[in-house]
Amino acid sequence: MSDCLFCRIASGELPAELVYEDDDVLAFRDIHPKAPTHVLLIPRRHVPTLADAEDPALLALLMQRVQYVADEVLGLAAGYRVVINVREGGGQEVFHLHIHILGGKKMPF
Ligand code: AMP
Ligand code: ZN
Repeated sequence: MSDCLFCRIASGELPAELVYEDDDVLAFRDIHPKAPTHVLLIPRRHVPTLADAEDPALLALLMQRVQYVADEVLGLAAGYRVVINVREGGGQEVFHLHIHILGGKKMPF
């Protein structure tokens, strides 16, 4: 999707501060971090929202990559928060599925 911001990052057309990538996903730092560590993990494949992600294998893969990136790449041993905003009412602004990984401080409720 050439008009999708995160597809353009995934293709390398737009720059991002990548922390991890493989054939299926990439993870990069949020440009407006809301915690000392704030990374977005996305599937390379364009999926607009969590509600559109019908493939159980994709959902499992995303969660496995969240574990790996948070612990092995970002070193968030003390813990972290995982957030997925879904549609406008959930605060979603970019309509390419992304998982926020937030850490580096004690997260308030
Ligand atoms: P959401 O509100 O869940 O859709 O989150 C979108 C996130 O994308 C926000 O936290 C933005 O700060 C972040 N964001 C927007 N544009 C970029 C970009 N070019 N590179 C990195 N993060 C971005
Ligand atoms: Zn996209």
